[in-house]
Amino acid sequence: MEIYVHIPFCLRKCRYCDFLSFPCGGEEKRRYLSALGREIAGCGRGRGEGAVTSIYFGGGTPSLLSGEEMKDLTESLKRQFFLAPEAEITMEANPGTLTASHLAGYREAGVNRISIGCQSVHEAELSLLGRIHRYEDFQESYRLAREEGFDNVNIDLMYGLPGQTIDSWRQSLEAVCALSPEHISAYSLIVEEGTPFADMDLDLPDEEAERQMAADTVEILTGHGYARYEISNYARPGFACRHNIGYWDGTPYLSFGLGASSYMDHTRWRNTRSMANYLKNVSVPACLRRDVEILTVENRMEEYMFLGLRMTAGVSQSEFAKRFGRSMNEVYGRKIEHFVREKLLTNSGDRVFLTERGMDLANVVMAEFLLH
Ligand code: SF4
Repeated sequence: MEIYVHIPFCLRKCRYCDFLSFPCGGEEKRRYLSALGREIAGCGRGRGEGAVTSIYFGGGTPSLLSGEEMKDLTESLKRQFFLAPEAEITMEANPGTLTASHLAGYREAGVNRISIGCQSVHEAELSLLGRIHRYEDFQESYRLAREEGFDNVNIDLMYGLPGQTIDSWRQSLEAVCALSPEHISAYSLIVEEGTPFADMDLDLPDEEAERQMAADTVEILTGHGYARYEISNYARPGFACRHNIGYWDGTPYLSFGLGASSYMDHTRWRNTRSMANYLKNVSVPACLRRDVEILTVENRMEEYMFLGLRMTAGVSQSEFAKRFGRSMNEVYGRKIEHFVREKLLTNSGDRVFLTERGMDLANVVMAEFLLH
C-alpha cells in the first residue's frame, strides 16, 4: 500500500491554483501538524496492512515544514506502519521556501525524492502565474537539493500559459534538461473555475500552438534521454515515480490530512475540507470522512482501464482477468478493436496501450471505457 500526507499551506495562492491550500500562521501550522500525528496514530490501521512501498508529502507546500517537523511526521508513520526498506519517500517543494538546513533535515527524516515546482524559466510567465519565486530561486533550490545529496529529483513544468510562445516553452524545456534531473513532469495549464485565472482576460496560446507545445515536449525530453512513461511524466531509466505508478495501477492508498483522499478495500473517501472540523474530529476517523463510495466491480474495471491507459505501458490483460474474473476482451473487446482500427490503441503480447496519437487524444479514448 501507499501513503499520502497533505500539507495544505502555501505562502501565497498562485492564480491558477484550485488545490486545497492557503497561507497560514506558525500557530496554525503547529496545531495542524500535531493533529496529523494524532490522525496517524488513531487511524485504526497499521502493520497488518502490509508493507508501505511509498509515502508522498503533497500540498500545498510541504517544504514550509522544518526538517524536525518532517522527521516527526515520518516517525509517526514508521511507528504505525511497516515501511518497506526500499520505500520511495517523496516530498513536494517550492522554490523560495527551501533552505540547506531544511533539506538536511528532510534527508535525515528519510525523504529520498524531491519534486520541485519550477513551472517556467521566464520571469514574466512566473509572475503572471502568481508564483512566489523567480527562476533564479528555483536554480538555487535545485543546487541546494543536489548539494544535500538528493539524487532523485523531479522538476514540474507547465505549458499553455498566458503569454507563452512555442519558443519560450522550448527554452523552458531545454533549460531544465540542461540541469539533468532524474524526472520531469510537464503539464498543460487548465483554467479552473473559481481561480483568479477564470476571471481574467488571459492571452492563452491557441489550440494549434498548444498542440505544437505538446509535440515539442515529447521531442525535446525524449531527445535528452527521458522516457515518457505517462501522458505528462518523463524519467531517466529507473526513476519513474513509484507513487504515481501505484496510483495508476490501482494500488490501495491511505491518506492523512485535510481533504486528503484514500482508496482502501475497494472503498474511496476523502477527509473533510474544513480545518475546524478536521482539528476537532481528528482522533475519530469516521467523523472526518466524506463522500464514502464503495466501488463496484464495474467501477474498478473502468478505473483499471482509464488510469492504466494513462501509462505508456498500458494495461495488462492477464492482470485484468486476475482482478475481475472476466477477460478484458469480454468486457471491452469491441471498444479495443474500434480504437485499434483508428490507430489510437495498439497491443503487444499481454498489454494494450495508447499509440502516440492516442496519447494526444487520451481523454476521448479513456472516456469510452466508462461502462455507464
Ligand atoms: S504552490 Fe502549488 S499548491 Fe501552493 S498555491 Fe501555488 S499551485 Fe497551489
